[in-house]
Amino acid sequence: MISDRRAVSRAGDNENGTECGGRTAPGIMILGATGSVGSQAADVARKRGYDVRAVSANRNSKAVEDLCRLFRPEAAAMADDGAAADLKVRVADLGTKVYSGPDGLTEMIRSVSADTVVNAVSGAAGLSPTLAAMGSGMRLALANKESLVIAGDAVMSEAGRTGTEIIPVDSEHSAIFQCLKAGGDGEVRELILTASGGPFFGMERKDLGSITPERALDHPVWKMGAEITVDSATLMNKGFEVIEASKLFGMPGSSISVLVHRQGVVHSLVRFADNSYIAQMSKPDMRLCVEYAVDYPHRTFPVIDRLDLTSVGPITFAKPDAQTFVPLALAYRALEAGGALPAVLHAANSAAVSAFLKKKICFTGIFDILEETVSRFTGAASCTDLPDILSAADEAERFAASLAAEK
Ligand code: NDP
Ligand code: MG
Repeated sequence: MISDRRAVSRAGDNENGTECGGRTAPGIMILGATGSVGSQAADVARKRGYDVRAVSANRNSKAVEDLCRLFRPEAAAMADDGAAADLKVRVADLGTKVYSGPDGLTEMIRSVSADTVVNAVSGAAGLSPTLAAMGSGMRLALANKESLVIAGDAVMSEAGRTGTEIIPVDSEHSAIFQCLKAGGDGEVRELILTASGGPFFGMERKDLGSITPERALDHPVWKMGAEITVDSATLMNKGFEVIEASKLFGMPGSSISVLVHRQGVVHSLVRFADNSYIAQMSKPDMRLCVEYAVDYPHRTFPVIDRLDLTSVGPITFAKPDAQTFVPLALAYRALEAGGALPAVLHAANSAAVSAFLKKKICFTGIFDILEETVSRFTGAASCTDLPDILSAADEAERFAASLAAEK
């Protein structure tokens, strides 16, 4: 629910005056505000005149200070204690309350009142803020897909229990959320996630071994953080998105497909019972997804430029090669097995990608580590409680790191 408690943006330089598309400005929190999605959320907030009431990051206190000076939020949180101490000094003249450490971050979420919390924290650290948002009365605009990959069942059941509204920010899921408006409950037959295919689309496994982190970090469509960019190149990101879609929309893996779409303008599709496909198209720009999630159900302001349809050229769709890009196949396997297996896959991937970025293993070494770890932890499919799932994930991360060290 977008409340009308506050009407005036503190940023003061929004391009739409002090009101927001004819309505009062929503109050938001931006978590992970210094990252790729978070800084785009801040840009949307500035353009739309949202009332930014809290921001957070891990270590980058200088960038958080800049955001505090721009938006004058009532609170800011740094997950790193040293960075929090530094931020306190930096914003002493502003009166911003500074929270420290992971617990400080969840305390801030529970203490500051806003309409929407944008969770753009990266990695497993995004799960606690997601759970803290449950029952807070705020809408959750969720970019942190790991929350749903690691603990999708727990998150969705808490959302149901507490009546918390989750609007996806991940572009494919935002697209599907929008497409679903075209049909009724029970009429959906297939969710189709589009994938850029990554920079190595069409290559065979034997040619992938020599790929360097520099090449893997050069994404053809989106500019993102390092881990998610490598995940896009391995198709692990798409695999995680299949799990994310399954949890968010309550569909089994067998009803979720992936199609490689190189042009990056169709962000996903839904096929309904009458075999009609509904697609969402726009320029690839996360700011649209953030704005949609905060302003939903309203669409009033063009925060991104129009896509010139005549300049797009032919639009193509192709099947991904899940035999070469093993992580995609492993994600379907983990989703079907259930329990802790998606969390195990995620943890193994974090360890493997970190080793790849440090040049300790080669690109296909990531695939080997994922395959070995998932096979080793098949028994974790029987875990149902969140603490057991998290401990299986910790164990899998250590196991995967030890495999990386041996290679
Ligand atoms: P980035 O790495 O660019 O940014 C991560 C943000 O989270 C930073 O603000 C960082 O702070 C903060 N952060 C990192 N670790 C912690 C921690 N332990 N505790 C609290 N905060 C932390 O990531 P992205 O913006 O690329 O991705 C964010 C999320 O959105 C991910 O879940 C990703 O999968 C998802 N996503 C990203 C897309 C994109 O286009 N980038 C698209 C769709 C989804 P600091 O700067 O101090 O390190
Ligand atoms: Mg995505």
